[in-house]
Amino acid sequence: MKGIIASPGVAIAKAFVLSHVEVVIDEALAKDTAAEVEKFRAAVAQTEDQLNNIIAITEERLSANEADVFRAHLMMLADPMFEETVLDKIENSSYNAGKAVSEATAEVAAMLASLDDEYLKERAADIKDVGGRVLDNILGIVRTSLSDLNEPVVVFANDLTPSDTATMNLDYVKGFATDIGGRTSHTSILARIIGIPAIVGTGDITSRVKHGETVVLDAVDCEVISNPSSEELAVYEAKLEKYLEEKRELEKVRFLPAETLDGHHVEVVANIASPADVKGAVEGGAEGCGLFRTEFLYMNRPDLPSEDEQFEAYKSVLVGMEGKPVVIRTLDIGGDKAAESIQFPAEMNPFLGWRAIRMYFDRLDIIKPQLRALLRAGIYGKLHVMFPMVISAEEIYKMKDILEECKAELRAEGVEFDENLSIGIMVETPAAALNAHLLAEIVEFFSIGTNDLTQYVLAVDRGNEMIADLYQPLHPAVIRAMKMVIEASHASGKWSGVCGETAGDVKGALVLLGLGLDEFSMSAGSIPAVKNMIRKANYAEVKKGIEECLTMYTTEEVNAKLDEMLKDILGK
Ligand code: PEP
Ligand code: MG
Repeated sequence: MKGIIASPGVAIAKAFVLSHVEVVIDEALAKDTAAEVEKFRAAVAQTEDQLNNIIAITEERLSANEADVFRAHLMMLADPMFEETVLDKIENSSYNAGKAVSEATAEVAAMLASLDDEYLKERAADIKDVGGRVLDNILGIVRTSLSDLNEPVVVFANDLTPSDTATMNLDYVKGFATDIGGRTSHTSILARIIGIPAIVGTGDITSRVKHGETVVLDAVDCEVISNPSSEELAVYEAKLEKYLEEKRELEKVRFLPAETLDGHHVEVVANIASPADVKGAVEGGAEGCGLFRTEFLYMNRPDLPSEDEQFEAYKSVLVGMEGKPVVIRTLDIGGDKAAESIQFPAEMNPFLGWRAIRMYFDRLDIIKPQLRALLRAGIYGKLHVMFPMVISAEEIYKMKDILEECKAELRAEGVEFDENLSIGIMVETPAAALNAHLLAEIVEFFSIGTNDLTQYVLAVDRGNEMIADLYQPLHPAVIRAMKMVIEASHASGKWSGVCGETAGDVKGALVLLGLGLDEFSMSAGSIPAVKNMIRKANYAEVKKGIEECLTMYTTEEVNAKLDEMLKDILGK
């Protein structure tokens, strides 16, 4: 099978295929309008039953509050305006029931969206949801949703958004596979952080697996087996056991220092996406947190998180890390990450567009509460704050001005905060890498975002499976860019980390070790293998080997050299 292992492991469970159904509306006029009215009424009744069922389940699993949105949908379903618009189209224009519902939904939604009243405007999305359900029932489309899970499954989907992945119910989801996506798309990164096996970029796995059949997701050898025989099942159960055994064996080194045989010490820290990940990071052997992707605090909710709520989240990470260093990144929304509460323009190239630091200056109402929350939380531990997607010194100057404004406000309000908050930047654009020697003078540290740096240096979309073979984090140009950044920081007496996926990949970590990197930040599950490699390596030899890689012309030559070095180090 074609595919990319996003997160290693083996899962055996029932397949849960998330629908990706194309809705096709029949344009033919109705021959029997009374029958179409009947069809519409039956679909409404079916929708009512489904909504009542969802309300009951939501109340039981979550709360009465969470069920309110579906209660509002029930009311919209009963709204005479929707019903009258549909009936008018069937009875007076001979539309078939599907076309009538589809057009009535669009008309009512457009009417609501055009109103001045904010509350009614937002109901446009609800009527689309309700109308969509009625239409599905008319057309006989059955949709599956992640909220319907009630037994262990492997999820198959055309794509999963980062927010879908962040909120997966891990009691039930044992792994997933998607048609699209790359190794460093955020859905893959989250799979590694939450530690479930995942394969992405398969092309067509959703059309090859049937909902409900037993499957093996083998994210070690990149295979999916449907309906395994009892012999096959035994083979894969043994493979799962062997995988877990090897993992347990490697985990023995997780609390030992990341120090080479000749005494060169580096820091190994964890990437997290929520305060809830701190426990796993500490238990996984992290010596701190090198990247907290705060944008996940903004997802799966209709409103922005308040300053106080953010303060509590950052404080809990600092307290949970028990005085170990914590790097928190300010909101990096845009690209493949969206939040309902932030309006994004439709863009041709969202990864090159209005995202991350670029939006802060237009939305001080968003960035200032975050900076204030970080300043306040800073007194609870060793906090470093960094800004994503920087391309220029001007952006850093502007951010420092805004930070000073926030400090002045807090001072005037008599609120305690960290006066000397350490400020750094992510180096993930070619501009920041090329100017690293200058930027190093005006920040305290660098954290190289190799996921984006690779994407922008090579001009290869990180989430596009069609060009996944061109996405090479160890391309000679990317290695050279990382070397420039690390050397520039050291020349100014500052430190450099890597929080992109290269640090958690044993081969990538070997390159970074040889380049003299100070801090390696990765999903907690990668820590044992990386520490194991570092502890078996000789720093002087690794440095020499990586210097040799820098004289090579192709990624293939580099990879061959790195494989040879790893074989020497790991003895296999
Ligand atoms: C990166 O770009 O390497 C990075 C760590 O940030 P993100 O993956 O969230 O874009
Ligand atoms: Mg990035």
